Amino acid sequence: MIIKPRIRGFICTTAHPAGCKANVDGQIEYVREQTPLPDGAFKNVLVLGCSGGYGLACRIVAAFGCGASTLGVSFEKQPTETKTATAGWYNNAAFEAAAAEVGLYANTLDGDAFADAMRERVIDTLKSDMGPVDLVVYSLASPVRQHPRTGVLHRSAIKPLGEALDIKSVHVDRGEVVQVNLDPATPEETADTVAVMGGEDWEYWMQALAEAGVLAPGCKTVAFTYIGTELTWPIYWDGTLGQAKLDLDRASGAINERLEPLGGEARVAVLKAIVSQASSAIPVVPLYVALLFKVMKEQGLHEEVIAHIHRLFATQLAADGALRLDDEGRIRMDNLELSEAVQAEVKRRWPLVSTANLDELGDLTGFREDFLKIFGFGFCGVDYDADVDPTLGREGSS
Ligand code: NAD
Repeated sequence: MIIKPRIRGFICTTAHPAGCKANVDGQIEYVREQTPLPDGAFKNVLVLGCSGGYGLACRIVAAFGCGASTLGVSFEKQPTETKTATAGWYNNAAFEAAAAEVGLYANTLDGDAFADAMRERVIDTLKSDMGPVDLVVYSLASPVRQHPRTGVLHRSAIKPLGEALDIKSVHVDRGEVVQVNLDPATPEETADTVAVMGGEDWEYWMQALAEAGVLAPGCKTVAFTYIGTELTWPIYWDGTLGQAKLDLDRASGAINERLEPLGGEARVAVLKAIVSQASSAIPVVPLYVALLFKVMKEQGLHEEVIAHIHRLFATQLAADGALRLDDEGRIRMDNLELSEAVQAEVKRRWPLVSTANLDELGDLTGFREDFLKIFGFGFCGVDYDADVDPTLGREGSS
């Protein structure tokens, strides 16, 4: 079939196998071009949420930067003869193929990471194939979570707290700067968002892995958060998502206590804003990201996802030196985004930006390109008019 992007709201319902492969291969290439990370910094790495965005980049750096065996977990839609799979399914396939080429162990389990059954599958796989892990990356981003103990289906709501919010945003398809009105979350919506994106599931994972004896001495675990600035605080840090991320901080403390006997460590890392499936759905963020990218590119500070994660490993996770921590003990990787020069310029542009000058002040084109790339569209060297087999001639990845 000939595969073209089909965009519905915040997602693209098609994905291109060759484009996804080009995306994964390009990230691997980037890692190969960097100074090698300390030899054997990590040997066995588990990545929860491995198929896109930050999780995929972590898996690529762990494997191709540290030479680690990797076990990934993600939730994908399988392809059929007439329908493409999710981009993550193609990314996983491309990653596994590239790892196999250089003799690196890579296995991916497809299913619901919030379910206890998936924890059992992971533990069984670690016991039979890989051995104890020395790094667990928690990079799930999901709008829903079925609670494994109560069976309740929690749905997150991306909303402000307390009062309704009237704020600038952008309609990405139409390229129009608009005002959006967002009702405040109810206490139930806030609690649901914490249940989905908070730290409980990370704790469940680390508890299950510790109890099964599949964490190596000195094991590290990292989960990701975003803090941003006053431009995005009303919808992010001061909203329901911020409450969930505060709960991640709480969980990091609890996990640290659990890992103490192993000499292990849990950290939350504050990462920069990127275009991902998850972040595209947050109101206000696309406009902020469009301005931010333009300013960071102008100032020579822009980092692609893989560069950002490589820096996380090279300077923090796999480094011997002191970590760059804030008062809450979080690793701060958002130092370039939050630098004085960048933020002063983004804040200067924010009240000025309108539909008419969006291209001049912001990089919506870059935002759209990054969005399409998530689904494998827009890569040089990929023939998008070619007839391709969406199933890659095989069944699902696990
Ligand atoms: P993403 O949407 O690109 O990737 C999410 C991953 O989670 C995918 O692999 C998906 O398959 C997997 N997943 C979702 N639900 C699942 C389930 N039930 N079972 C198994 N796998 C499941 O997301 P991302 O933007 O890379 O976000 C990852 C983390 O980084 C999140 O905690 C997010 O808050 C954080 N973060 C994101 C940004 C940003 O700008 N995107 C910035 C800072 C921090």
